[in-house]
Amino acid sequence: MKADGRVNGKTRLTGLIGFPIAHSVSPQLHNTLSLLLHENIIYIPMKVPPEELPTAVSGLKSLGFSGFNVTIPYKASVMDYLDEISTEARLIGAVNTVKIENGIMKGFNTDAEGFAGAFRTETGTDFKGKNVVILGAGGTARTIAVKVVLEAAGRLSIINRTADKALRLAYDVMRIAGDTVNTTKPSEITGSGIMLPDIIAIIDSADIIINTTSSGMYPDTEDCPLPSEACILKHRQIVYDVIYNPAETQFLKMARSFGCTGVNGLGMLFRQGVAAHEIWTGRKITEETLIEAFTAFREIAANPPEGDE
Ligand code: NAP
Repeated sequence: MKADGRVNGKTRLTGLIGFPIAHSVSPQLHNTLSLLLHENIIYIPMKVPPEELPTAVSGLKSLGFSGFNVTIPYKASVMDYLDEISTEARLIGAVNTVKIENGIMKGFNTDAEGFAGAFRTETGTDFKGKNVVILGAGGTARTIAVKVVLEAAGRLSIINRTADKALRLAYDVMRIAGDTVNTTKPSEITGSGIMLPDIIAIIDSADIIINTTSSGMYPDTEDCPLPSEACILKHRQIVYDVIYNPAETQFLKMARSFGCTGVNGLGMLFRQGVAAHEIWTGRKITEETLIEAFTAFREIAANPPEGDE
């Protein structure tokens, strides 16, 4: 048997904290990236119960970690234990990546750039001046809503099953847009419930429709985030679904049947990881390596690990 020399005394440490985390494909993604880039870095999953969060975060610094990712339910609460937070992460109100350097812990949000980077790469366009509709008003909706406003969307409509949450998110994003120095602010930011016929008109005038709800996600693969009466699309519209399991949701199938460009969330998941890796190493990954890594990542994501028992 050949000795395993992948981890040695010089190996840099990174990983993921969350609760639960067994379902995560991030360890495979990051360790594959390190392998491809010939970097001596290891990424490990760390299941942290809520009462242990402060000691776990300070422990990672004491143990000399280069950084770590943060997932549900700690993306907001981890901010209390960091020294610095990037402007974008502060505006979004969530951190998913922490870099530890010279004893300073700085938080970033790479979900936002992961989404925007994947969107640009896979659709060949951006949000400038576009009429954007977001379905959902949870954590991912907040991240994406702030990002599209920072990227100069022309108009933003948020539609959610629970109307109150859509209204609150629209209000928050309006306030954030008002506070930023970005000169091109959306002409309108609205929130609403799933009410016909209002949403039919909103969907009809959209350029880009982004599903951030978990409706249609495995195992409820027959579900769709919009009622069928509102699912009348135009071929010029772009439909982005943050779900990646299944690779093609009912919503994406329906969008493709209207001739729309449809994109799933796998690229977002991949690119948030790439952005975190770049933050930790200070090294930009080439497009060539990204293509190779994405091919490997597709296989990993097609066979995700089982969740916590
Ligand atoms: P969250 O904060 O819990 O929000 C869930 C949202 O989905 C809420 O707006 C909720 O509406 C809505 N929703 C849930 N079930 C629904 C249903 N059956 N019909 C209509 N609306 C429904 O969750 P999150 O963290 O934002 O995650 C949302 C989705 O994004 C998940 O599928 C997750 O896997 C995916 N995601 C993907 C990536 C990626 O990299 N691709 C990254 C992060 C998250 P109510 O307010 O009415 O409850």
